[in-house]
Amino acid sequence: MQSPESRPRGVDQRPRRRARQDAAVVDRTAIRNAALNQLVLAGVVLVLTFLMFHHGFTGNIPVYFAGVVIVFVLTAVAIAAPWGRIPFAWTVVVPLGDIIAISLMRLADPVAGTGLLFAFPVLWLASSFALPGFLGGVGLAIVGFAISTAMDPRQLTNFAIFLLPVMLIAIGATSYTGARRAAAQRRLLRRQAEILAQALERSRHQEQLLSEVLDTADLGVLHIENDGGISVMNDAQGHLQHLLTDADGASPPVYARDGRTRILGDELPLARALRGEEFDDERVWIEPVVGERRALSITVHRLASADADPDAAAVLVCHDVTAEMSALQARDLLVSSVSHELRTPLTSIIGHIELALDDPGLPQAAASSLAIADRNADRLLSLVGDVLAASSHAATVPVTPEDVDVLEIVKASAQSVVTGESSRNVTIDLSRVVPARAYVDPFRLRQVLDNLLSNAIKYNREGGRVSLMTATRDRKTLILVEDTGVGLDEEDLANIFQRYYRGAAVRREGVEGSGLGLSISRDIVRRLGGDIYVNSTLGVGSTFTVSVPSVRPGAPTQVAGPARTTGGGGTA
Ligand code: ADP
Repeated sequence: MQSPESRPRGVDQRPRRRARQDAAVVDRTAIRNAALNQLVLAGVVLVLTFLMFHHGFTGNIPVYFAGVVIVFVLTAVAIAAPWGRIPFAWTVVVPLGDIIAISLMRLADPVAGTGLLFAFPVLWLASSFALPGFLGGVGLAIVGFAISTAMDPRQLTNFAIFLLPVMLIAIGATSYTGARRAAAQRRLLRRQAEILAQALERSRHQEQLLSEVLDTADLGVLHIENDGGISVMNDAQGHLQHLLTDADGASPPVYARDGRTRILGDELPLARALRGEEFDDERVWIEPVVGERRALSITVHRLASADADPDAAAVLVCHDVTAEMSALQARDLLVSSVSHELRTPLTSIIGHIELALDDPGLPQAAASSLAIADRNADRLLSLVGDVLAASSHAATVPVTPEDVDVLEIVKASAQSVVTGESSRNVTIDLSRVVPARAYVDPFRLRQVLDNLLSNAIKYNREGGRVSLMTATRDRKTLILVEDTGVGLDEEDLANIFQRYYRGAAVRREGVEGSGLGLSISRDIVRRLGGDIYVNSTLGVGSTFTVSVPSVRPGAPTQVAGPARTTGGGGTA
């Protein structure tokens, strides 16, 4: 990049050319003003002459008319001369000639008051020729005045003869300073216009650069005005937009992330964006050609406006994620078929191990080896089950909700983790578990609680505590699982419900796990019409809250009954 100072001289002639053009404009205006000034002077002289002769002129007529003729000749010159081709300085001839002409007229009759006419050439010279014009104009006019006065001894005794020179000086000075101020303002305006032009040029350049950069990106970018109009669309978006409209101008079918649910009309991402909604990484499938699907990820963000206008403009970013989505689908398909294939031989292995373990004549050493093999085969089977559940779509998890009391399910789950796993001396506190109605599938809710409880023990410290609590609020039943474990950092909190995600700390410490439990649990709870939330402080502990419907949707509220705060189990 070249800095402006390093540019060879004379390369950029624009400012100088512009200054010359500006000067030419000023000159033409000055000439027009001068011609007008001269015309007014000629008019005044005409009227004055008429009045003087009407009231009986007593002065020297030839001298007076010599002055009048000079004024008219100069007026004709001022109007008709090709000033555009003559240097501006030559216009000085006209006011100088006027001073001579007015001096002659005053000489012809010093008391007729023609001396006042000196104001015209003085004004002209002082405003058009800066300081020399002011000094020269005033000086010459005073000389002319003095000569004509000296010729008439009657006037020398009159004090009023000083009045006109003083007045001419004042007129000249005012006109000179006014012209200077006007010139300074013109310079300032010119400078501001130049700065504005440079800023405009820069912004045009940046706009062009931005649109070139946007066009090279393979992300579609769309700018939505606050009135819903579309003002910017890059090439990639133009292409995607083309996909979103078939040959007849109608939209091809659009499906939700699951690839099955059809999205129509007002629910289409662009319609939502135009309505003012904001969303992140919304994934949809479109089928521009039958049997040929494309996956798009669409994000819409409002642009921050200074006056926090809720209808502020927005930017829509769209990109083709067909390859990524297809890869994910292929992975799920592969994982589910491999897991499925693994289940049958595993079940058979477990069955045979258990048969062998039932043999009373089995030597002790072989029995303990078989018991270890049995435990690990069990674990393998549960892992395969998890992988299978995670790879089959959440929407397909079968649930059969019914009215239940979660107290029993929570207690049974707590009992199973205490007896089932190495409890690491973790105490399970059930003192705040109270009867609470819920409209859920008991088998699936148990699966969720088993997972949360086993995590609460697995990620706890030796001798820690897990507290369980139930409550009913409005039409929701809440089950809280609180632990005094390792806690979660920001990154964990943002990702723990993602499939196959495992916290960095647990990976480092080699704690066993698949990273599927929480994702499966959340899918199940959502299928039941609820959700899971987590609160955590690193190094202090975490609280997972399962929220499920307390009554069947549409049932009257009183069916649920108020949540009781007493009763429930003790410490397991
Ligand atoms: P897994 O336990 O098999 O790794 P999960 O899906 O159940 O899989 O959990 C995902 C991750 O979330 C875990 O690897 C762990 O980092 C974190 N996590 C889950 N429960 C807790 C908890 N109670 N305390 C701290 N971290 C937890």
